Amino acid sequence: MQKHILIVEDEPAIRDMVAFALRRAGMDPAHAADARTAQNMIVERVPDLILLDWMLPGMSGLDLARRLRKEDLTRDVPIIMLTARGEETDRVGGLEAGVDDYVVKPFSPRELIARINAVMRRTHGTDADGIVEVGGLKIDSAAHRVYAGVETVPIGPTEYRLLHFFMTHAERVYSRSQLLDYVWGGSVYVEERTVDVHIRRLRKTLEPYACDALVQTVRGAGYRFSTTPSA
Ligand code: CA
Repeated sequence: MQKHILIVEDEPAIRDMVAFALRRAGMDPAHAADARTAQNMIVERVPDLILLDWMLPGMSGLDLARRLRKEDLTRDVPIIMLTARGEETDRVGGLEAGVDDYVVKPFSPRELIARINAVMRRTHGTDADGIVEVGGLKIDSAAHRVYAGVETVPIGPTEYRLLHFFMTHAERVYSRSQLLDYVWGGSVYVEERTVDVHIRRLRKTLEPYACDALVQTVRGAGYRFSTTPSA
């Protein structure tokens, strides 16, 4: 799966340069020129990472970062701040706001891509090449394939997205509505019981490889992907 990166930047020259660099690196960029537009876009589709300019017209990048960290939907989305020289003295404020990293302008496309990959490895457990391994399963996002040991696991598209989300967010409990937001996207109307249907299918898919127990039901809360057997 291509990484969807939202660029929030009011300077068109920087925005275009960044979008170009991301596309060349195999990522899928979108952009907003101010915080309010960005918020609307994020509700429509939660990005894999946000590049956030510090100085924006209206709400500042820092204020937007604080807001995103307060919302369930965006709490875990990694944020890299783009700052002008001098603004980095205010780093502490950014770290308190939950920003994952900084890139100081002017930066090279190569430096930016390296930072993005480093932050994604740290936060999603996968880099832009998209290899992720948990509990004997391996996902190659670029090839869109799942492996159990050396065997290729045949898997449906929704089960794939669900498994990919679980493997990159292991050991944490997600409610049905959170899974709908993250896996199906906020703009699609799907009933919560649809989640249960696809969880069942995912377990069936993993059963022949003795990996179905990784997908755990947490009573009254939702689901969790965990390598620790559930009690
Ligand atoms: Ca700016």
